[in-house]
Amino acid sequence: MIQIVKHALIRHKLGLLRQKNISTQDFRRLSNEIAILMMAEITKDLPTEDVKITCWSGDIKVEQVRGKKLTLVPIMRAGFGMLDGCLALVPNAKISIIGAHRDEQSFETVPYYAKLTPDIDQRLAIIIDPMLATGGTAVHAINVLKKAGCKNIKGLFIVSAPQGMQHMQRTHPDVDIFTAAIDDGLDTNAYILPGLGDAGDRILGTK
Ligand code: URA
Repeated sequence: MIQIVKHALIRHKLGLLRQKNISTQDFRRLSNEIAILMMAEITKDLPTEDVKITCWSGDIKVEQVRGKKLTLVPIMRAGFGMLDGCLALVPNAKISIIGAHRDEQSFETVPYYAKLTPDIDQRLAIIIDPMLATGGTAVHAINVLKKAGCKNIKGLFIVSAPQGMQHMQRTHPDVDIFTAAIDDGLDTNAYILPGLGDAGDRILGTK
C-alpha cells in the first residue's frame, strides 16, 4: 500500500523545505514538523484496549495503545532529521538505528551500522528517512528488520521517487509506504527531482 499523506500543512511546509536557500535550522525544523503530521497518520489505526482508571468523577474505562508499542528506525544520517518529530507523538518508542550509505559510483547500498531493539519481533517498526530514492537503502533496512524477526514494518518518507517505491513494493509488498510527495524521478546521480538535494547534508549542515 502506498499512501500519500494529505494535509494542507504538510504541503505548505514541504513547499518551504524545497526552497534552496533556507537555513539548516529551518530545514531541520520543517522536517520535524512534517514528521509529526505524518506520524499522526501512520499511527492512527494502532490497536487499543480498554483500561480502567480513576477519573475525578470516579472509575471509568479509557483506551490505551495495546501491547509492545513500536520502534522507530531512523536511517543514518538523514533519518535523524525526523526523529524528534516522530518522538513528539510516541515519546516512549524504542529506537533502532540502521546506517547505510550509497556508493557514489555504483549507487549500491553500503551498510555500515545496525543496532536494533532486542524485542523487535513484538513491535511495529517505522523506518524513517526523508528520501526514498532508488529504494536500495529502504530495502536493505527491511531485510535487516525481517532477519531480526520483525513482522510489522512501515516506511515513512517525506519525498519519494517512483523508482524507489517500485523497488520497495516489488521486494517487500507487505511493507506500507507513507510519503508526503511522489516526485518526478531520479537524476543521473540518483538524486530525486525536483527533490530536496542531499537531505543529510541539509539537515546536519555539512555542506
Ligand atoms: N538522498 C538524498 O539525500 N537526496 C536524494 O535526492 C536522494 C537520496
